[in-house]
Amino acid sequence: MQTTRRCALLRELGLTPTVQRLAVLEFLEGTSRHPTADIVLAEIQKRHPTISRATVYNTLDALTKAGVILRITIDPAVTRYDADLKPHAHFRCRTCGAVYDIRLERENTLGDVFQGHRIETVRTYAYGVCLQCLRKEGIASA
Ligand SMILES: [Zn+2]
Ligand SMILES: [Zn+2]
Repeated sequence: MQTTRRCALLRELGLTPTVQRLAVLEFLEGTSRHPTADIVLAEIQKRHPTISRATVYNTLDALTKAGVILRITIDPAVTRYDADLKPHAHFRCRTCGAVYDIRLERENTLGDVFQGHRIETVRTYAYGVCLQCLRKEGIASA
């Protein structure tokens, strides 16, 4: 996404497009690793050394509340963030802790009405061992 597009998106959602917000959003859009707040902080400070921890945390909070990014709670110990808002499921490796985007065989039920409730979002968290770890253990056939 272009910076001008990001600015417009933030304004649409009632957020002033500050340098911090744009930097956090740009970083999250460029990664598929679902970083924790501390990883976001470290990356942002590489390019903007003056941005404080509190600012990065508040920015993640504001972007989450505005619906620009998702807070992923797949890992009970840490909160992770994702700028990919398209419906997708997450898979966490119990060996290395990495979180991957996955597609599930059975598609989500977006828009379905279930017992009178209309489903707008489906979040699926799957747990197991990732391909890299299986390869290290010599188990993967791929
Ligand atoms: Zn793994
Ligand atoms: Zn994701």
